[in-house]
Amino acid sequence: MPTKCDVLIIGGGVVGLSTGIAILEGNPSLKVIIAEKESRLALHASGRNSGVLHAGFYYSPDSLKAKFCRDGNRELRILAKKYSIPVREVGKVVVVRNEDENNRLETLFERGVKNLVDIEILDASVLNKYEPLAITHERFLWSPTTAVSDPIAIIDAMRLEFELLGGSIRHNTKISLTEINNEIIDSSHQFDATKIINAAGAQADRISRAVGVGTGYAMLPFMGVYRATQEKNLPLQRLVYPVPHPINPFLGVHFTLTLDHKVKIGPTAIPIAGREQYSFLSGWSGSDIAQSFKGMSSLIRGDAHDFGKIIRSEWPKVIQSLLVKESLELVPTANQVHEWYKKPPGIRAQLVHVSTGKLEQDFVVSRKLNSTHILNAVSPGWTSALPFGRYVKNLINS
Ligand SMILES: Cc1cc2nc3c(=O)[nH]c(=O)nc-3n(C[C@H](O)[C@H](O)[C@H](O)COP(=O)(O)OP(=O)(O)OC[C@H]3O[C@@H](n4cnc5c(N)ncnc54)[C@H](O)[C@@H]3O)c2cc1C
Repeated sequence: MPTKCDVLIIGGGVVGLSTGIAILEGNPSLKVIIAEKESRLALHASGRNSGVLHAGFYYSPDSLKAKFCRDGNRELRILAKKYSIPVREVGKVVVVRNEDENNRLETLFERGVKNLVDIEILDASVLNKYEPLAITHERFLWSPTTAVSDPIAIIDAMRLEFELLGGSIRHNTKISLTEINNEIIDSSHQFDATKIINAAGAQADRISRAVGVGTGYAMLPFMGVYRATQEKNLPLQRLVYPVPHPINPFLGVHFTLTLDHKVKIGPTAIPIAGREQYSFLSGWSGSDIAQSFKGMSSLIRGDAHDFGKIIRSEWPKVIQSLLVKESLELVPTANQVHEWYKKPPGIRAQLVHVSTGKLEQDFVVSRKLNSTHILNAVSPGWTSALPFGRYVKNLINS
């Protein structure tokens, strides 16, 4: 017999957990189950990210990302405090490498102001007071509310919150959906749910497509490769980022700090075949390859992104010396570090709009009948999770 529940959430990442928390906070009498295909949480994006609490200045003011990121930053700190999870208040400098980036810095600043983010543009002459090891051209941007924390500890805290509110998590439980008689149901008949929320991260589009949602997108996964060293080898005090390319939703190779005093460089943005392809030989399927190929060909056909350039610039960075070389434009003394080691890669589950060949810039939430699908939950999905969960809760109650 299928287990009856009011809400079935597919996926126990930060987005699924936050949604579950929001639903139960609104109505503790509901039976809410999270079905997670893995034997434990945090095996995918929510446990493999950079742990940066983004401030919220990158995103177009009318986007869901802008709507959730600034408040998510504040709310994640409150959760971290409640569970004694450290947050390092390092702040971030965004530095400029050339004149063109100088103009784009202005746009970034204006977005930050519109998004009500605490942010400043400062003269290059004061950069050494913020981050003596970084260099910039004329100006830089200072973000005091960017911080770092521990993604796995945050998942554990969210899990506890969800379970304390009465929610339950079923592990080793893989869900797929189908539509029957104007209703979306769990096609394996494990659950009989009134409402279904698909928060399956990198797999969400596969699940939604089966019920005719998100069919205009293809999934093109991008692998993020990192290198790290001990902070004593490169004593940075701040996160150091370049000005991002306006059309790419990635932030460029940058320096992040971790709670355990490491400095990381990366990530790359390498197009790959598999959405869970953490090594070359596993984590992909025939349908993953087909999707990835579809995504790549629409990028090539469209004129929004120079796909050839992405390939030419990103693939070589799997070689450590070339990744480090790119980072020297931000922090030249990184050249003197000889002890870099590999960090586990992460995969950004990036959707491509098939007809236009554009990388989708925002989170996408689509509804059909009794189901809601959260697609393209890429960065800053971790920072944004708590308000994002509330938004989904309000949507399904509307
Ligand atoms: C390299 C990298 C760096 C990043 N850095 C940052 C950062 O510094 N700051 C930030 O804010 N964001 C960052 N992000 C983005 C952030 O990690 C994601 O936006 C966020 O974790 C997405 O959460 P999620 O719950 O949607 O997905 P996930 O964490 O992937 O969770 C989805 C879950 O669904 C499960 N699942 C999948 N299919 C099924 C199925 N059929 N049935 C049941 N369960 C299923 C999966 O096993 C998984 O546990 C980064 C992402 C990457 C990849």
